[in-house]
Amino acid sequence: MTLTLLIAFALGLTASQGAPQLQFEPVLQPLIEARLKSFARSNEQRAQVMKKLFVESGCTGDKLTEQPVPHLDQPNLICVLPGADGAVVLVGAHFDIVQKGDGVVDNWSGAALLPSLYQSLSQHPRRHTYVFLAFSGEEKGLVGSEYYAKKLTKEEKSRIHAMVNLDTLGVVHPSNLDSQGLVF
Ligand SMILES: [Zn+2]
Repeated sequence: MTLTLLIAFALGLTASQGAPQLQFEPVLQPLIEARLKSFARSNEQRAQVMKKLFVESGCTGDKLTEQPVPHLDQPNLICVLPGADGAVVLVGAHFDIVQKGDGVVDNWSGAALLPSLYQSLSQHPRRHTYVFLAFSGEEKGLVGSEYYAKKLTKEEKSRIHAMVNLDTLGVVHPSNLDSQGLVF
């Protein structure tokens, strides 16, 4: 559902500017499921698997960078899919795990989708630049994403047109509902 939303959102962005529609190649379900099942139980291993999935999806060389984050043992992983103009869409998901359970829903479900989104969008030319962000240290208090935002220059910030955050996909657990029944 989130992939559909993301694509629809991106289409809306381009359509409103009179540009050609965004083209993408669907990634097959078994591959998406295999990536979901590739979760590891430690943050160290998760960072390694995350990197491997990006590389496997074609995000290699200078498109993929590691951003060391102060106070964290694992870096943010940043995968850039360049577009024809300077406008940027950020797509983020944290890969770290709180030390209970397997952390598949929160948030390997979001993180493991990032490489597939890259793969899907990389097959055709595109107008916007997409930056796929696998954040470290979210469960410690948004440490990785906060650092990423802090390091952006004024010029980089001015080019960001949208940010899509993927977290806890596919289920709504009662503990994720507030008193009004809204998902948080
Ligand atoms: Zn989360």
